[in-house]
Amino acid sequence: MTTKPVLLAVDDERIALAAIERDLLRAYGADFRIVCATSGSEALATLKQLKLRNEPVALLLVAQHIQEMTGVEFLEQAMDLFPDAKRVLLTASTDTDIAIFAMNQVKLDYYLRKPWDSPEEQLYPVLKDLLADWQVAYRPPFEGLRLIGHRWAANTYRMRDLLARNQARVQWLDLDTSEEARRLLAALGSETLPLPVLLFPDGSWLADPTPIAVAAHFGHAMHAQLPFYDLIIVGAGPAGLGAAVYGASEGLRTLLIEREAAGGQAGMSSKIENYLGFPAGLSGAELTRRALLQATRFGVELLFPHEVTSISVEGSTRLVHLADGAVLSGHTLLLATGVFYRTLDVPGSERLNGAGIYYGAGMSEAKLYRGQDVYLVGGANSAGQAAMYFSRYARSVTLLVRGPSLVESMSQYLIDQIAATPAVKVSTSTRVVEVKGAANLETITITNTETFETQELPTTALFVFIGATPQTEWLAGLVERDEHGYILSGLDLLYDGHRPAGWTLDRDPFPLETSVPGVFVAGDMRLRSMKRVASAVGEGAMSVRLVHDYLREL
Ligand SMILES: Cc1cc2nc3c(=O)[nH]c(=O)nc-3n(C[C@H](O)[C@H](O)[C@H](O)COP(=O)(O)OP(=O)(O)OC[C@H]3O[C@@H](n4cnc5c(N)ncnc54)[C@H](O)[C@@H]3O)c2cc1C
Repeated sequence: MTTKPVLLAVDDERIALAAIERDLLRAYGADFRIVCATSGSEALATLKQLKLRNEPVALLLVAQHIQEMTGVEFLEQAMDLFPDAKRVLLTASTDTDIAIFAMNQVKLDYYLRKPWDSPEEQLYPVLKDLLADWQVAYRPPFEGLRLIGHRWAANTYRMRDLLARNQARVQWLDLDTSEEARRLLAALGSETLPLPVLLFPDGSWLADPTPIAVAAHFGHAMHAQLPFYDLIIVGAGPAGLGAAVYGASEGLRTLLIEREAAGGQAGMSSKIENYLGFPAGLSGAELTRRALLQATRFGVELLFPHEVTSISVEGSTRLVHLADGAVLSGHTLLLATGVFYRTLDVPGSERLNGAGIYYGAGMSEAKLYRGQDVYLVGGANSAGQAAMYFSRYARSVTLLVRGPSLVESMSQYLIDQIAATPAVKVSTSTRVVEVKGAANLETITITNTETFETQELPTTALFVFIGATPQTEWLAGLVERDEHGYILSGLDLLYDGHRPAGWTLDRDPFPLETSVPGVFVAGDMRLRSMKRVASAVGEGAMSVRLVHDYLREL
C-alpha cells in the first residue's frame, strides 16, 4: 500500500475550515489525504506524528489568524519538520504586508485571500501549480525501520549489524550528516535521547533498545509455548536450522533458541558458492530466509533472541536455562552454538571495535564505504568472500594475509575471483601491528614479515577475519570439551575403550552424542567438525535420527 501524501489545512474558524476541507477533498481527495487542525499546536502535534510515521506532507494551508500562534509562526516551526512542503497562507485583506514579509521569512509559496467565492478560479489553479511542482521532487517514503545514531558509536553499529543480520529493511540515518535524522529527533521532542533510536513504520520508537526489546516490539514470542519438548536446539546457525527442519518434519516437538540472528556465521556470508543445489551460489541471508521458512512450515517453535546460559540434567529431563531466568525442559538437547570470531589483539583495536574495526563480516557497513579504500585481515574463505563483496562498493579492497600466499588457506574458486578483480589487492606476509584513531579508525600500521618494512596507511575500515573459536565455558563441568573448548562426542569420548566418567547407559555414546546421554552436538563447535555450511546442516539432520534412537530407549 502506498501512503497518500498529506494536505494539511489549519484554521480556528470551524465553518471556514469545513469549507476548505470540502474544497480540498473534492479536487484532491483521490490522490492526497486531507488533514485538518483548528490550532497551531494541534497542527504541529499532527505534523510530528506524520514525521514519525514517515508520511509525506505536500501542502501546508494555514490561516494567519489561528489560536496560540500566527500562521507565519506555525509555518516557521512546520518548516523544520517538512522543509519541502508547499506553504500557503490564508489572509484577510488587511494582512497583505504580513504575507509579503512571510514570503521571505518562511519562504511562503503563495498567499490567498479567504474566503474565496469560487475554488475553481481562486484556489485550484494555485494549488495545481504548487502540487505539480512538489511532485517533481517527491520520492515515495521508505516504509521500513529507521535507525538514528552516530556512525562511530559501537552500540549503534551493533544494532545496525543485528538488524541487517535479521534481514530487517532499515534506513540508516547518521546524526552527523543527516538533516532528516535531526528533524526526527526534534519530532520526538528530545534531542538528548539515548542513541540509537529505532523508529517503526507506525511511528512508535525505542531508544537504545536491547535485541529483546526490538523482538518484543515486533510481537515475537517472548516465552516458550510448551511445558516440555522432545528436542530443544540451542543456536540457529546451519546446524541448528538443519536439525529444526528434520526434527519438526518428523513430528518431534521442537524448540529452536537463538541469541542474535538466525543463520549464524553462514548468515554473514555474502555468497556461499559451494552449497549443494545452488550452482550460482546464494547469500547467507537468502539461505537463512529459506531455512527459517521451511522450519516454521513444519511447525518448529522459535525463541529469538534469547541466550542460553547453562544446561542441567534432572533424571531423564534435560533443562535449558535462559539469560532471563526462564528454564525450559525436554527429553533431548542439541548444542549448535558454533564458533566466534577471534579478535585482533593489537594496540588500539579494542577501543575502535565497531568504530572502523569490524568483526563477523560487517556486511551492514559495505555500502557506507562506497568509493573508499578498505582493508581486510585474513586469508581464509570468509575473508575472500568479503573482499569480493566489498569490491562492489569500495574503490579498493586490500587483503592483508599473514602467510606467503592464499593457496594454503583459501578455496581456488575464490583465489581465481580475486585475481580477476582489479579492485582487490592481496598483500601477503603482512601483519597488522597497530590501529589508530580518535573517535574512529584513521590509520593502520602494517609490517611485512619478510622485509620488516613498516607502513602506516590511512583508512577508516578494517574488517577482521582471523579465525574463530568455540565459546563453551557455560558448558564446563557438564559436557566434555577439549583444551580449546570444542565439544567431544561419539568415539572421541572413549578413552582406551572406556566410556566417559558419569556415563550411565549400557551402550557407547552415539555419534554426535556428548558425554551426557541425550545431549547432542552438531556443527562447528564439535571437535573434528568440518567448518562448512553443508557439514553443519548434515550434522544437524543426522542428530535428529540419533535423537529418535535415544527416545526409543526412554
Ligand atoms: C563470513 C563467513 C563466510 C562463510 N562462507 C562459507 C561458505 O561459503 N561455505 C561454507 O561451507 N562455509 C562457509 N562458512 C563457514 C560456515 O558458515 C560455518 O561452518 C557454519 O555456519 C557453522 O554452522 P553452525 O550452525 O555450527 O554454527 P554457527 O553458524 O556459528 O551458528 C551458531 C549459532 O548459535 C548462536 N548461539 C551461540 N551461543 C548461543 C547461546 N548461548 N544461546 C543461543 N544461541 C547461541 C549464534 O548466535 C549462532 O547464530 C563461512 C563462515 C563465515 C564467518
